[in-house]
Formats: sequence, C-alpha cells, structure tokens
Amino acid sequence: MNIILLGPPGAGKGTQAKILEENNGLKQLSTGDMLRAEIAASTPLGQKVKAIMESGGLVSDDIVIEMISGRIDLADCARGFILDGFPRTVAQAEALDSMLAQKGKKLDAVIQLVVDEAALLGRIEKRAAESQAGNQGVRADDNAEALKKRLDVYNQQTAPILPYYQQKGTLIRIDGMAPIDQVTAAIAAILQQSSSGGCGHHCGCRHG
Ligand code: AMP
Repeated sequence: MNIILLGPPGAGKGTQAKILEENNGLKQLSTGDMLRAEIAASTPLGQKVKAIMESGGLVSDDIVIEMISGRIDLADCARGFILDGFPRTVAQAEALDSMLAQKGKKLDAVIQLVVDEAALLGRIEKRAAESQAGNQGVRADDNAEALKKRLDVYNQQTAPILPYYQQKGTLIRIDGMAPIDQVTAAIAAILQQSSSGGCGHHCGCRHG
C-alpha cells in the first residue's frame, strides 16, 4: 500500500507516518529526514542544500525526485511506503506519477491533514522543546522565522498539488487538529476502505 501524507509543516505527517510504519509495516520516506542525514554526514549534497533548508526554502525538484525514485525500489518498501514531505510541488507530483507508472506501482491514498495554521507555530515550538529536552538536537528550521517562510512556501508552491490530486479523485481530507490517536484511527479507516477495494471516500463506491 502506497500513501502520500500532505499538509503544512507541523500538521503531523511525520508523527502519523511513524505510527503507520509501526502498525502496518509500511516504510516512511521523509525527504526532509533524508536531506537532514545528508547534512549531518556533510556530503556534497548536504552542503549544497544546508542553507536553503535552514532558511525554510525548497531544494530543487530534481534532487528530491531522484532521491525518492531510488528509494522506493529498495526491499524495505516492498510492503509499501508513506511519502512524508514529498511531493511538494506540482512538478514533483507529476514526476511521481510517471515514475510510479514506469515502475508498475500506484498510489492507494493521498491523505491531507487539514490543520489550523494559527496552531502550527505552537506545535513547532513544542517539537523544538521536546527535541532539546531529549538531547536530540533541534531542527535548524524549527523557529518562528523559518516557519513563516515554510508556511509561505507551502501556500504558494505545495498547496497547488491539492487540486492536482482532487481532480484525479484521489484526495481524502481528514481533520489534523484532532488528537493523535483519532487522526491515526481516521487514516486506518481510509486504508481499510482502500484495501477492501473501495475508493476510500466512505461512499461505498468501488472505482479503486
Ligand atoms: P520537512 O522535514 O518535510 O519539513 O522538510 C524540511 C526541509 O527539507 C524543507 O523545508 C525543504 O527545505 C526540504 N525538503 C524536504 N522535502 C522536500 C521536497 N519534497 N522538495 C523540496 N524541498 C524539500
């Protein structure tokens, strides 16, 4: 089962992807985590993207498309994958479609976590405080200034992929402001519906 989780920074994509990984054996593919690993290892790619990521901008489509294309072929994605933070532009969404078609794979659900933007700074600040308390290192872009840029980038460059999936009839919106376990349950219901052959819209249709 292959899923996309969509939503602005702080919507809960990473939290839900980790739960799905544990509960369903799907592999979380977070382009942000992959890029942060490149930065931590000080690879040429990491050095190239560091300043862009810290400021809250997007790295180029080519970089992330290639990253994902190589990653979904690996054995740990055999049961399926959860895309977290990808696609982030219409060009990435289009590239994903053609790469999946080439590989004979398909998307089972595109799930949008709908959240109230006003709550996101509080969530990001909480994540930063928790990382600090756990000695995990705070993300360089988890601060008010970078978040503002990340939200602007989301609204300008990422939000247009919502109508892209809506037109295809694959977008399912759920309430991302609900408690974590309720969001998990809502996603589980969608996946259940999807794996039983329904479209995931709770409408009883079976157009896949
Ligand atoms: P995230 O961990 O998903 O919040 O991503 C952190 C940062 O990594 C973003 O603000 C971008 O700079 C970069 N990034 C992650 N995924 C992508 C993507 N699909 N396209 C472009 N940049 C990305």
